[in-house]
Amino acid sequence: MTDIAAVAGLKTVLAEIESAEKEAGRSAGSVRLVAVSKTFDADAIRPVIEAGHRVFGENRVQEALAKWPRLKNEFPDLELHLIGPLQSNKAKEAVALFDVIETVDREKIASELAKEMRKQGREPRLYVQVNTGLEPQKAGIDPREAAAFVARCRTEHGLAIEGLMCIPPADENPGPHFALLEKLAHEAGVERLSMGMSGDFQTAIAFGATEVRVGSAIFGHRDYTGG
Ligand SMILES: *Cc1c(COP(=O)(O)O)cnc(C)c1O
Repeated sequence: MTDIAAVAGLKTVLAEIESAEKEAGRSAGSVRLVAVSKTFDADAIRPVIEAGHRVFGENRVQEALAKWPRLKNEFPDLELHLIGPLQSNKAKEAVALFDVIETVDREKIASELAKEMRKQGREPRLYVQVNTGLEPQKAGIDPREAAAFVARCRTEHGLAIEGLMCIPPADENPGPHFALLEKLAHEAGVERLSMGMSGDFQTAIAFGATEVRVGSAIFGHRDYTGG
């Protein structure tokens, strides 16, 4: 896909979000689009920023460091979300670069983030990732422990958790996973739900998503061969 195609993709996705909001009886603008730019370089991302979009997601700290500091300098109102697993030795860089970290999923990460946030005087907004499908290869906390973990983030680490995030198993109907995340958010007393990707964001909106993370429907097919 060319750059122009990415802008067309953005407009299509925004229109689809708007009709999904309407269909679900939700107010216009209640769902935010996180444009997932992983594997795409700054030249591919820039037209989407210039078209007015400001919220982006990356899944790797190292990759994000290579392109976003410069773009953030140029466009100070950008909002960057970390949507991939976080290693504790990257907490420092993650706190310095990201505005939202969606993948808090264990005690060690919570305590490293708390420490870095104090040190740097930065307060990225935080989500807890839940492994709704209990997939061994996937990050995220066990759904049965989610509410207690959110509570411990508050009481033991002084972290305000804003929402929950999930990535349903690729080969399952996502609806039940979205419904579970909504229920857990209610139990945990958090407001926001990051769920839904290119293939299922309309479904996620019907189940209450407040952020959808959409990559290929905007930027096109990802080529991983370059590493
Ligand atoms: C890549 C990725 C997305 C976007 O996936 P698409 O299917 O391209 O929309 C969303 N969420 C996470 C966590 C991702 O890693």
